Amino acid sequence: MMSQQNQQPQPIYLKDYQVPAYLIARTELRFELDEEETLVRATLQVRRNPACTRSRAALELHGHESLELCRLSINGEILSERDFSRDEELLTVSAVPEAFTLECLTRIHPEQNTALEGLYKSDGMFCTQCEAEGFRRITFYPDRPDVMSVFRTTVVADRTRYPVLLSNGNPVESGYENDGRHFVTWEDPFPKPAYLFALVAGDLAVLEGSYTTASGRAVKLQIYADSKDLDKLDHAMLSLKRAMQWDEQVYGREYDLDIYMIVAVDFFNMGAMENKGLNIFNTSCVLASPQTTTDAAFQRVEGVVAHEYFHNWSGNRVTCRDWFQLSLKEGFTVFRDAEFSADMNSRTVKRIEDVSLLRTAQFAEDAGPMAHPVRPESFIEISNFYTLTVYEKGAEVVRMLHSLLGAEEFRRGTDLYFERHDGQAVTTDEFVQAMADVSGRDLTQFKRWYSQAGTPRVEVSDSWDEVTGRYQLSFRQSCPATPGQQEKLPFHMPIAYGLLAAGGEELAAGVLELTEAEQSFSFEALPERPVPSLLRGFSAPVKLNYGYSDEQLLHLLRHDSDGFNRWDAGQRISVALMQSLIADYRGGRELLLPDSLVDTWRSLLNDVSLDPAMVAHLLRLPSEAYLAELADVIDVEAIHEVREFLLKALAKALLPEWSAAYSRCSREEPYTPDAAACARRSLKNLSLGYLLATGEEVWLTLAEEQFNNADNMTDQQSALALVVHSGFRQAGERLLAEFQAQWQHEALVMNQWFSIQASDPWPGALERVQWLQEHPLFDARNPNKLRAVVAAFCGQNAVNFHAADGSGYAYLADWIIQLNKQNPQIASRLLTPLTRWKRYPDQVQGLMKNQLTRILDSGELSRDVYEVVSKSLA
Ligand SMILES: [Zn+2]
Repeated sequence: MMSQQNQQPQPIYLKDYQVPAYLIARTELRFELDEEETLVRATLQVRRNPACTRSRAALELHGHESLELCRLSINGEILSERDFSRDEELLTVSAVPEAFTLECLTRIHPEQNTALEGLYKSDGMFCTQCEAEGFRRITFYPDRPDVMSVFRTTVVADRTRYPVLLSNGNPVESGYENDGRHFVTWEDPFPKPAYLFALVAGDLAVLEGSYTTASGRAVKLQIYADSKDLDKLDHAMLSLKRAMQWDEQVYGREYDLDIYMIVAVDFFNMGAMENKGLNIFNTSCVLASPQTTTDAAFQRVEGVVAHEYFHNWSGNRVTCRDWFQLSLKEGFTVFRDAEFSADMNSRTVKRIEDVSLLRTAQFAEDAGPMAHPVRPESFIEISNFYTLTVYEKGAEVVRMLHSLLGAEEFRRGTDLYFERHDGQAVTTDEFVQAMADVSGRDLTQFKRWYSQAGTPRVEVSDSWDEVTGRYQLSFRQSCPATPGQQEKLPFHMPIAYGLLAAGGEELAAGVLELTEAEQSFSFEALPERPVPSLLRGFSAPVKLNYGYSDEQLLHLLRHDSDGFNRWDAGQRISVALMQSLIADYRGGRELLLPDSLVDTWRSLLNDVSLDPAMVAHLLRLPSEAYLAELADVIDVEAIHEVREFLLKALAKALLPEWSAAYSRCSREEPYTPDAAACARRSLKNLSLGYLLATGEEVWLTLAEEQFNNADNMTDQQSALALVVHSGFRQAGERLLAEFQAQWQHEALVMNQWFSIQASDPWPGALERVQWLQEHPLFDARNPNKLRAVVAAFCGQNAVNFHAADGSGYAYLADWIIQLNKQNPQIASRLLTPLTRWKRYPDQVQGLMKNQLTRILDSGELSRDVYEVVSKSLA
């Protein structure tokens, strides 16, 4: 094996794409699973790709350095070491026939696999994760998404320890071996790339269901989990059936196999994976019961089950040509699952939640060293590009196409796309082309959303001619430089708008299409000067500025027919106030709560005609992370202190209203996870938070009662988190101990227990997380536990992570250095908070950079960590 120890990992480029030289018509796999080692026999029917123009191209098979090659043969002839070469990534056979059978026997060690890519063990079961490049840790194979093959898979294992043996497709054969082992053979008739391969073996319980498709085919539905979790699968099953029906109604897409399986796995790097017919899920995205699961987690389960199901068409039947096209499947599928959730629950609330995430975390990504276009031009490690930009911004790009074309034309576009490319591996260009073809529109400029990185800015001004009634809106768009892209060209963006009269009625509404750097639109013969409601529904992923007065924002807050913009008007009022208070805090001036804000909030709290979920969103102060994203230089302490001041001041000023809202939303009725009940709990727990912010013992008693009497996890966990984070130390410790005693056997509930403590903003959090890491229920090999402790502390506890002595930064760097070898994907994801060092004051920058440098110098880095650290320091 050739060593490349001293060479830094090199990027690969989209522009270097070449079609595969060889195609695989059929892949037969036989796995002999065992505690000590696993044997994989692969039989591939290979033929030259007629589309490949390179003559006598060598056969290249990807193979991770951990693979032990036992035997390799072509058409039955065993190859000797002279016939092929192998380095850390590739096995190359220079001379092969036009068409041939390749057989390959490989020995692997899933029991030692801590990276959780390829085949590995999670607790007692075997499972796989092959996207993006995990299959090369299982056997030698052209592990690229544009090589699609039919798979037949036989799994052999011990009968008692692994009674359940699963793979993709339909089960076609099963039986016993002579030695006490058994086997099941699965055949998947739909050609797929290796990243969609899956295998599961274990002692699992199953919830069964069935679904009849619109054309009358019966599909068996199975959700597998540990037997103790069998009672937590009903919500996932219900969500799956709803998703199947929704995709038939909204997109005309039916399921295609006889069986659809989901397996819940405890050790998983991601949320869930859409392997053909055999989805593998992080337990956190599939298990749900009222006692153990919050409302937010219920909705996450619904959304993720739908997302993975929708991939069967947007991802599996039509897949990506190469990994630069990841957003082809992810952006489209996130858009599909967001629309599904909007239809199942409150459309406005779903939009508010998604945009909050986008504006806080994706905009921060756009402004950081890892900023990249929705379709990146290059990467060192593709795992680093499973990002908010590819997923969430990618979904916004698809949403804009939906806005520009309208629902009907968009549907004709997706029909054409699925019909034209079924069974193919394609690019984002082909997706947009289908939309262009059905609409007759030129979408060339629109495609800049895929190729240009960064968050565009839109400055808006207006003018009014009293005499003619002419109102003019003028737009100026720009986009800041991002790494590798200094100059940006104007985007084609839909700006949904409405013009409101003084009485609140709408004078005009529609969608403006911005295509120029500067552009104006006129509205003639209006009866009065309107208040503009701009970027309704967040119709483009941009930062839009218009010099709103407080009166105008209050007008929109009261009258806008667009629920999202009503909420956004409230946010703009709060953000402007908090920004001026931050300046006061830094200038040593007294912080004051303006009466106008109190009056507005009082009227919102008293208005019982409003949706409680909407009120809760309106009255939740902008997060510290959002204020940080908006700041030129992030002053962590000032942001935290100002937010705490406002919480306390609003708590005291509106005490009777919070108390009344709490009572109004506390209903003695059995738990349901529907939108109306979630809305009430949301406002109830927001009110409890304000009541506790007064620091008065009487509200602590109320919170403890809620904690003790709750029949659901939302109320119990909210009470716990609020008591702990409001600084009631003794009561907090007591409730934490009770919670642990009650839930120590529920891993997902205990993740919440870890995370509440790790995100506690009061002093001493670093000592606390160090103590938590020694807890018997903490396991550093389990990504969910790392997220609950390390990511919660570094990502949701800004005041403690950014402690002035740099101890938080050193803590994170210690973890990265440890995880770099053990689980590179997780290591690189946890790194994010350190990469944002340029946004902080000078003295802080130095401390953060020191730790990045320490990581860089710590020894041999994985491609994952190397890419993020080196780009951050560049
Ligand atoms: Zn996905």
